[in-house]
Amino acid sequence: MSQKNRPSHRAQRLIEQEEQHFSRATRTRRTVLEAIAGKEDHFTAEELAKELSGVGRATVYRTLAHLVDEGTVCRVPVESGTVYRLGPQTHHHHLICQVCGQVQDIAGCGVDEFVADIGAKWGFQVTGHRLEIYGRCRRCADAA
Ligand SMILES: [Zn+2]
Ligand SMILES: [Zn+2]
Ligand SMILES: [Zn+2]
Repeated sequence: MSQKNRPSHRAQRLIEQEEQHFSRATRTRRTVLEAIAGKEDHFTAEELAKELSGVGRATVYRTLAHLVDEGTVCRVPVESGTVYRLGPQTHHHHLICQVCGQVQDIAGCGVDEFVADIGAKWGFQVTGHRLEIYGRCRRCADAA
């Protein structure tokens, strides 16, 4: 390689910084993912941040947002706020029990035609949708 084509000292340093940054982000992501994978049930961002106090609150929140964006983690709106859980990574909906708070992933959609019709009717470019179904789970309904 000629001297001319070699990256400058400064550029080289930037690349190294970038790589360090990247691997740190990857490590953080793994730590957060491991903590999430260890959970049986849904959790709040607050609970996760508390558990991973070594990682730093802002980083936990940012990583969580990233995992939601890529579909690894579901963000579920419940009455008390927002909870998270490891998702099936495909489009799905949720059953949310208003008594015990249990969240169930429901595979498949069933409303995509309805959503497409709405989009056509309103001249709205649909990029996605969410559907949460609230009620009482079987156990809570039986106990009532
Ligand atoms: Zn229930
Ligand atoms: Zn889900
Ligand atoms: Zn759907």
